[in-house]
Amino acid sequence: MSKHAILRMTKLYAPTLKETPSDQDIASAKLLVRAGMIRKEASGLYTFLPLGMRVLHKIQNIVREEMDSHEAQEVLMPFVQDAELWRRSGRWGVYGDEMMRLTDRHGNEFCLGPTHEEVITDLVQNELRSYKDLPRNLYHIQLKFRDERRPRFGLLRSREFIMKDAYSFDADEAGLDASYALMRDAYVNITERMGLRYRVVEADTGEIGGSGSEEFMVLADTGEAEIAYCECGYAADVEAASGKAHPTVYAADSMEKVATPGVHTIAELAEFLKCDESATVKAFSGKDAEGTVWVLFVPGDHEVNELKASQLISGFEPLTDEEMQESGLVKGSMGPVGLPAGVKIAADSSLAEVPAWVVGANEDGFHYVGAKLGHDFTVDTWGELCEIAEGDSCPVCGKPLELARGIEVGQIFKLGTKYSAAMDATYMAEDGTEKPFVMGCYGWGVSRSLAAAVEQCHDEDGIIWPAAIAPAEVVVIPLSMGDDLVEPAANELAEKLAEAGFEVVIDDRDARAGFKFADADLIGWPVQVVLGKRGLKNGEVEVKRRAEGEKVPVALDDVVDAVAKALKA
Ligand code: ATP
Ligand code: MG
Repeated sequence: MSKHAILRMTKLYAPTLKETPSDQDIASAKLLVRAGMIRKEASGLYTFLPLGMRVLHKIQNIVREEMDSHEAQEVLMPFVQDAELWRRSGRWGVYGDEMMRLTDRHGNEFCLGPTHEEVITDLVQNELRSYKDLPRNLYHIQLKFRDERRPRFGLLRSREFIMKDAYSFDADEAGLDASYALMRDAYVNITERMGLRYRVVEADTGEIGGSGSEEFMVLADTGEAEIAYCECGYAADVEAASGKAHPTVYAADSMEKVATPGVHTIAELAEFLKCDESATVKAFSGKDAEGTVWVLFVPGDHEVNELKASQLISGFEPLTDEEMQESGLVKGSMGPVGLPAGVKIAADSSLAEVPAWVVGANEDGFHYVGAKLGHDFTVDTWGELCEIAEGDSCPVCGKPLELARGIEVGQIFKLGTKYSAAMDATYMAEDGTEKPFVMGCYGWGVSRSLAAAVEQCHDEDGIIWPAAIAPAEVVVIPLSMGDDLVEPAANELAEKLAEAGFEVVIDDRDARAGFKFADADLIGWPVQVVLGKRGLKNGEVEVKRRAEGEKVPVALDDVVDAVAKALKA
């Protein structure tokens, strides 16, 4: 291991703050500002200070190593892009307000690059000429600018940010599949090497289009995305996730009309009948593309997923209160028995296993219990209609699904020929014909993943950096600078740790112990080595893992081993 220069707190530009900044809305941003790692310049624009830069470099190095070892090659494309390219791909007119446009002194139009598909396609189209030149994968780590409608959450949704984007060029779909698999593998390694808990989620291909896409989600309670996942590896955005609900059965011999005065919600109904919400059935009304009115039924402990409803019933849209009234539906008491003529019924497949339902009686203040499926009513269409809830069965293995929130740190796409065809970027195929490149694109939010790490790894005292991306690995804290035992011992120990290959910082400030401890916890060095007069007299120091918070006495001679162990834990 090579020796790293020892960082000294007396020299570092790491201005920590006691007060929480009032203009930040999320833990990672507050902590990164307080820990002296970033500063806000303007809405969505940030400066990285030296400690933030150190973390940024570590993430970039991990990303670079994984790209290089997975057959991608680094380039650097300009941040400012010619509008002409965007006109050729057809996106100049459609990209919208997120694109920051500008005009140079000659009246030529440009934009600040929000992404680089156009530039890369233009780059390779005259140089990758033959199928023999393929596959190729090029990446760069570069600023992006997106004029987000609401920049917020610090580095998680900024306007200027740092992205690693890679683009693969293949001759055919099979080649793309192989390039995509390599990038997926690299992304798994990046997330794991960063020390983060994450899930890989099947994604909607959205506006970019293409045939397949996955998102890498770092788990954090504050994440914007809600995901359902299973220990078998299945994971999906809650909106798109499938699964099976587990309704229960309310015991009743035959259908009976029950007066339920004042009952309008499922909670009130379950309370009234003294049963679980899963033993009741929830109704939801809407209309299809032709205007036919539908009532959808799902287990009472679930919500209707409108996306799924529109997949089952073409053009499905919820009814307004007025439309419900016009259709003769009774809000808060809809049920499959005695609906107005012409109203159709759809139900979640899980209800097919419930022989008798607890449902509204289409009459204010009344419900039916024991309404028998196939006897008292029938269902026109069955399908998946539920919003996934915790404990629903996994569609792959049947085990219970769990829910979590996540932050998207990366997304990989099989683009296909969307850009190459639009920009006429072709190669000479083996049969002598000109064919458009089959492309993939792979984005990793370098600055966002830095903040996502903080979002996942912090406590009320500060950041808890995973060792692989910490600004330094170990801080040496002498409790009394100037003391002729403590100060030299601290310098010596820092030197010894640096010799052993660790990244060391020494808090050589002439300050109170409590102040130094607070800063060390706030900045989040993974390991702290504390030197006090009393301990040193016995040849001892204290070692603390930031993640655990407990100080353990260690003999001076064993410190290198103890630090190594603490960093691995
Ligand atoms: P989002 O849905 O969060 O707006 P996106 O899907 O538009 O992101 P991509 O175009 O897939 O983002 O960009 C690749 C990566 O760049 C994202 O996975 C994310 O890590 C990062 N990224 C995108 N927008 C921002 C932003 N405003 N600030 C910081 N990082 C961003
Ligand atoms: Mg995305």
